Amino acid sequence: MKEATAGLPGHDAVVGLTRGIEVASLVTAGALLLANVAHAFAEGLLLHWWAPLVVVTAGLAADLMSGLVHWTADTWFSETMPVLGRRFLRPFRVHHVNPDDFLKRDFIDCNGDVAMLNIPFLTIALMLPDVGVGGAVALALVTFSLVSLPTNQVHQWAHMPSPPAIVSWLQRHGAILSIEAHASHHHAPYVANYCIATGWCNRWLTAIDFFPACERLITRVAGLQPRSDEQSFAERW
Ligand SMILES: [Zn+2]
Ligand SMILES: [Zn+2]
Repeated sequence: MKEATAGLPGHDAVVGLTRGIEVASLVTAGALLLANVAHAFAEGLLLHWWAPLVVVTAGLAADLMSGLVHWTADTWFSETMPVLGRRFLRPFRVHHVNPDDFLKRDFIDCNGDVAMLNIPFLTIALMLPDVGVGGAVALALVTFSLVSLPTNQVHQWAHMPSPPAIVSWLQRHGAILSIEAHASHHHAPYVANYCIATGWCNRWLTAIDFFPACERLITRVAGLQPRSDEQSFAERW
């Protein structure tokens, strides 16, 4: 089933088994996150001298990961490739051609995939020993998941003309991706501000020319042209 608006491409409706898996992923990730947070407080992981360093580093890593995943999906591979193309790459192509379509995706559709990807991190965090390096790695994994779990929700809020008041406050104060920061991504050739969790890494990555440098390297080594699939998709609409 495909939802489209006035000649523009739309997202595939998530139904049946896929939707069931997304609901299960959200419930599992939510339960694991609660268990991990309770465990971190019970074991006093935040009381160690290294805790602030671990929390800040893991939070930044989550934003960087959101940028790397977004850049990879926007820049490389084809939306017609088997298995991954239709399910994971096409939404990125549709999103650039028809960004308003994203607002039609409900909470489960918006957040289920990211929840699924975080389940291994949260499971490992619960299994690690609380002493020494184990405690630091557990705190890092929980912080990473805490920041990355709402990535796509934060992204959707950045597209809302009038997000909820608390969300708007967080956006204006730089706690999460702002509407303005993300709007600058939505101009062809769509190469600015890939990070969509908190957006904290965007300025630094732009300053060091990070993604263009990665693209030049990949083109030189593998001979691939960035955004070739995106251009051919956009020309069809
Ligand atoms: Zn994009
Ligand atoms: Zn967007």
